[in-house]
Amino acid sequence: MNKITIAIDGFSSTGKSTVAKQIAKHLGYVYVDTGAMYRAVTFYAMQNGFINPDDFNVEALVYHLPQIEISFKFNDALGFAEVYLNGKNIEKDIRTLEVSSFVSKVAAISEVRHKLVEQQQRMGKDKGVVMDGRDIGTVVFPEAELKLFMTASAETRAERRYQELIERGDKVDYEAVLNNVKERDHIDSTRKDSPLVKAKDAIDIDNSNMTLDEQFNKILQLVNMTIEDYE
Ligand code: C5P
Repeated sequence: MNKITIAIDGFSSTGKSTVAKQIAKHLGYVYVDTGAMYRAVTFYAMQNGFINPDDFNVEALVYHLPQIEISFKFNDALGFAEVYLNGKNIEKDIRTLEVSSFVSKVAAISEVRHKLVEQQQRMGKDKGVVMDGRDIGTVVFPEAELKLFMTASAETRAERRYQELIERGDKVDYEAVLNNVKERDHIDSTRKDSPLVKAKDAIDIDNSNMTLDEQFNKILQLVNMTIEDYE
């Protein structure tokens, strides 16, 4: 069977990674969470004191980029690949509201994007990949056979992210999560380098009123139709 590339883009917390993981598992494809890579660079910058609430030393981060090595290792128990920074598992560290509050500023730096896009293209060069992010269908794999653009209202998305953080045991308030979702959408959509835009040939999926099963079935149907077209 021919393998295709599936690009899933969209706003923050639209459930991209949930469905991307399900589809990758179903097809035996590799799933790449590109947001985790931008979060890993952000975590590195925080750990090294390059980012503080009122000061971001962009030059220092750019200078140290060659020392950042990001990798993924499949965790059988979890059923997905966890992200590693210079050999250390940082899967949990990168999902905090603090990392979320800086990540879009880090992702707006062209040098960061250049490094990560190159790695993403290497990871997906043999196809058979489901990659989610903001610029997958426009910049990373503009030739992807199937492109999806996920949307849902900001309130629905903030509620989902809030529940996730609470379940992890984080102490957050809903308003802070909602503000973060809106702020990231704004920075991601208005940055100069690779802004979040819907690719012309992407299919819109608004999942505000869909259950996870409905969403999975709808997307699987699109995937199967696309694979048939390429055979
Ligand atoms: O997908 P997630 O919400 O984890 O992504 C975190 C942030 O990383 C986004 O808000 C965005 O600023 C950045 N990002 C990006 N390009 C991608 C993936 C994520 O700019 N392909």
